[in-house]
Amino acid sequence: MKESVLQYVWQHKLFVPHGMVTTTGHPVKVIDVGRLNTDGGPDFFNAKVQIGPTIWAGNVEIHIFASDWYRHNHHADENYASVILHVVLKADQEVYINGRRRLPQLELKFPESIEKRFEELIHSHKWLPCIEHLQQVKALQWESWKNALLYERLSQKIDDIRELLLKTNFHFEEVFFRMMARGFGFSVNSAAFEMLSASIPWTVVQKCRSSVQQMEALLLGQSGLLFKACHKYPEDEYLEELAVEYRFLQRKFDLVPMPASLWRWLRLRPENFPEIRIAQLAAMMVENVSLFNDVTETIALDSWIELLGKAEVSSYWKHHLVAGVYQSKERSKPGEGSLMCLIINAVVPVVFSYADYQGNYGMKEKVLELVEELPAENNVIIRNWKKAGADVHSAVDSQALLQLYRKYCEPKNCLRCRIGHIVLTSG
Ligand code: SF4
Repeated sequence: MKESVLQYVWQHKLFVPHGMVTTTGHPVKVIDVGRLNTDGGPDFFNAKVQIGPTIWAGNVEIHIFASDWYRHNHHADENYASVILHVVLKADQEVYINGRRRLPQLELKFPESIEKRFEELIHSHKWLPCIEHLQQVKALQWESWKNALLYERLSQKIDDIRELLLKTNFHFEEVFFRMMARGFGFSVNSAAFEMLSASIPWTVVQKCRSSVQQMEALLLGQSGLLFKACHKYPEDEYLEELAVEYRFLQRKFDLVPMPASLWRWLRLRPENFPEIRIAQLAAMMVENVSLFNDVTETIALDSWIELLGKAEVSSYWKHHLVAGVYQSKERSKPGEGSLMCLIINAVVPVVFSYADYQGNYGMKEKVLELVEELPAENNVIIRNWKKAGADVHSAVDSQALLQLYRKYCEPKNCLRCRIGHIVLTSG
């Protein structure tokens, strides 16, 4: 049994409330279980329990075995001096605070089904451990859980943006560039794109915005991929031109390229290969030098698609998805699906943060309305949710379900999941 299950039972009052007594035979009545503490110190703060005739207010510590109190050195830790009750599965010994005050202990009793179902979820090898229980979840429960997940996802992105804002002295345009770069990584290469954008001072990016070739040289050179490609395809004249341009920029601005080994190709569709995505980012940065101002000026999906979609890559990249490898089929822009991903993962969070920073509630509302208009993403996680029977109508649904899968299902965080709660407590 995991300690987290015992905490969960206590937190949600799933214990058998009648006949509770301490190990010394005093009746226990739980008035308030307290607030779960996820940092250091006791597990629950500000609990209120009646032990015998006395009402106690303070903290509660939870362990599987009472002896864990000593194993974890709580007896010598001042943070645990205000514990009023030790809740355990097995009271294998009496425990004392500061070697003097005997701590009341309660062996917690609760329905066996909770632990059994939890074990089934945790040890399941299915894509979605609770898949057989999904029909138990009512539409309204799904709705409110998805809203909470969407809010959680947006909040995490806003926290990331706040961190970038602090690093850039609240330079929204630079943060927008960094988030767009991360977006062009489309999850597999997002960390590498993030590193790429952070490796170039914003003033240098600005100076190269008048020429798409110079911007390509800057970004591809900094990525480490340009010299790698030049080495592999020495006869490719365009790559050599970019390399000459990059060497000039490198000397002038004292640039240090990233290691090319940080980029990933495995299991990527050719349209997502890093070099073509870097070329598209370069085109977007040059095509519209006031891109950030423009997206904040008109909050409308059509307008954002038009703004992001009009940048065409240079003629070389129209026929290359990989540097040095010609292909006859011409491609000049990111597809609509890619634009939607950029909008949901980069434009929406930055514009929402900007509106928040400005205290512009009307603008925030508009951004949220726009998310409802966005179509759902189409990736393997969303396709699996659809197969499992989940309703996926728009980006609101897909973003919530991505959050659920990545932050709860994958790390087996079922005890914090509202669906997990339904599974563990039903029937
Ligand atoms: S986290 Fe929730 S949705 Fe995911 S497997 Fe566990 S109970 Fe199911």
